[in-house]
Amino acid sequence: MIKSKMEGRPQANELNNEVPDYTWKIILVGNKKVGKTSITNRFCKDTFVEEYVSSQEVQLNRKNLTIEGTDKWTQLHIWDTLGQEKFKSLAPIFFRKSVGAFLVYDVTCKESFAALKGWKEQLENNADGKIITMLIGNKVDLANKEIPSEVGAEFARENGWGFLEVSAKTNIGI
Ligand code: GDP
Repeated sequence: MIKSKMEGRPQANELNNEVPDYTWKIILVGNKKVGKTSITNRFCKDTFVEEYVSSQEVQLNRKNLTIEGTDKWTQLHIWDTLGQEKFKSLAPIFFRKSVGAFLVYDVTCKESFAALKGWKEQLENNADGKIITMLIGNKVDLANKEIPSEVGAEFARENGWGFLEVSAKTNIGI
């Protein structure tokens, strides 16, 4: 969509397209190991790693997308949360200026679903009231599902959020 290096003399229309029309910050929140990094990697790089790599720092990925039906494009800045123990002090910076949030749980882990209440409070306390939120149940490729789809859908409905069940591993819904 965008040329990283322009050969020769740049054309006016190329220059015009060098700067994003929009820059949107999107955040992923949820317990450790629910698959936030995996979802981001699948979406941004189309990769998946089976081993768990603990992320001690904020992960920031960028992805450029054209906006359907227009000649405009946006650069998404996708932020992934830290381990919970470090999170509190950084929460204000993490949530600052974000326009979209994905609340992520693991459909095979009740604990991660129960923890959403706390993550919802974090969102309410730190994010802009206009933030668009979507609930994501990850790992639907696994057979040992503990949270039925209806339970996830109902929780999203109660809160006025969107809802999707996905698999970063098999690329369902990403
Ligand atoms: P994070 O701590 O929330 O960022 O979680 P990670 O993305 O690091 O994932 C934690 C573990 O779950 C890793 O071992 C991943 O390989 C695994 N995982 C992530 N997404 C999926 C998925 O959709 N299906 C399965 N089966 N495993 C997944």
